[in-house]
Amino acid sequence: MNLPSQLFLNGLFRDSSSGQRTALINPATEEPFVEVAVAGGVDIETAIESAQRAWETGWRDLAPGKRSEILFNVARLLREHIEEIAQLESLQIGKPIGDARDEGALGARVFEYYAGAITKFCGETIPVARGGFDFTLRQPMGVVAAIVPWNFPFPIACWKAAPALAAGNSVVLKPASLSPLTALKLGELAHAAGVPAGVLQVLPGSGSAIGDTLVTHPLVRKISFTGSTAIGRRIMELASRDLKRLSLELGGKSPNIVFADADWQRAAETSPMSVFANTGQDCCARSRMFVERGIYEPFVEQFVEATKKLIVGDPAKGETQLGPLVSSGQRGTVEEFLADARKRGSRFACGGGRPQAKGYYLEPTVLLDVDKDDRCWREEIFGPVVCITPFDDETQMLRDVNASPYGLSGSLWTNDLRRALRVARRIESGVLSVNSHSSVHAEAPFGGFKQSGLGRDLGMAAMEGYTELKNVYVAE
Ligand code: NAP
Repeated sequence: MNLPSQLFLNGLFRDSSSGQRTALINPATEEPFVEVAVAGGVDIETAIESAQRAWETGWRDLAPGKRSEILFNVARLLREHIEEIAQLESLQIGKPIGDARDEGALGARVFEYYAGAITKFCGETIPVARGGFDFTLRQPMGVVAAIVPWNFPFPIACWKAAPALAAGNSVVLKPASLSPLTALKLGELAHAAGVPAGVLQVLPGSGSAIGDTLVTHPLVRKISFTGSTAIGRRIMELASRDLKRLSLELGGKSPNIVFADADWQRAAETSPMSVFANTGQDCCARSRMFVERGIYEPFVEQFVEATKKLIVGDPAKGETQLGPLVSSGQRGTVEEFLADARKRGSRFACGGGRPQAKGYYLEPTVLLDVDKDDRCWREEIFGPVVCITPFDDETQMLRDVNASPYGLSGSLWTNDLRRALRVARRIESGVLSVNSHSSVHAEAPFGGFKQSGLGRDLGMAAMEGYTELKNVYVAE
């Protein structure tokens, strides 16, 4: 397989101006497998200035039908390369190959959705009191800086690039240092599909080294960031100086609530993957479970049984459900949480150890009797760890659910429609599913309340976030 290993700048692969490179390590084997160019400040300057030029001299004024055709072409090429994209993703972050294929298809679907959206996303005419003719325009902003994390590198790169390009912006995409390969493939395929040189630049590089340059550059009009709440907060502070437009998709500590009237056996069977999928490295992971007291014991028993059956192992194998964590550092962080849980007297219903010597693996871990003041209950662990607690009273349970500073996602299991609607309304989160764990749909808005973020990805809401709204009045 051909591994992309250079910056993708102005329609070409090229080395960074400093010549600096960094090795990527396969988390399943702990072996380095490729060296990738690292962008520096000079490359960022070049990328942004060329992206601005490419925007001003063509992309911004391209007929909507033509832009739509190009993005449909991108989607088609992505579909044709799903297997290659999946292999790259699995190699760089240890994602099970089946999941990587599904996420490749999601990326293509996102491009299809926004290719179609271009000719449907529009302003309005407004009957203003003084008469005349008043209408609104949705105008592109210019250069968008898209900064993405390593846990869903390909789909998140797609769900930022596709709406930004569809709305007529150019994009400088910075993948996470651990996962540049699929973003680079996206740049290459988008260009081959007809996206003009400079309109989608892909620059792997260290966030701590180049992040500030990217975020504060005067030509960058919008920053679209997905990552940790700490970095999101820093970006917001920097962006505030020039009042740059901003969308932030940040951390989570999502609840999974099971009422006794629900089909709780189905909830117990399916809930392990709502927290352990992607080895728990998921901003939507349902890592706090609230189970109504009457079914608590049998529910936990069934949940633990289902957890023990999960297949942890080689991400290249089709049957694998959990691969390794992304890095030795990430596993170390999760193990610190587990050490804290042990010290605080939490009960380990299963897991807690390393299942094999090689690779950054960790067993899916179920914690019981966790105090609501403990770190494991309050903080995002970003690893395969769930805390389960019983509840007696709906009002108190909702208070505990909403006590988190996060508010990204969540699930709710009940067969009582009135309760489902009442509780869904009360939960402070941007995304919620009833009797399911589905959080992401290309067509629906995705994002968080409170410290889980600002603005929305996906759906038509993302198109709004990549445009300025202009009102034009024409006198009679
Ligand atoms: P992170 O450390 O915040 O990194 C995210 C991205 O920001 C990476 O590309 C990183 O580059 C870059 N970055 C780092 N420092 C920066 C700076 N000073 N300025 C600008 N960019 C900078 O997060 P992560 O550890 O990769 O991802 C895990 C976090 O992302 C979790 O909290 C998770 O919940 C969140 N997440 C949220 C969503 C959502 O949609 N809400 C989705 C996925 C993940 P480097 O890799 O070079 O450091």
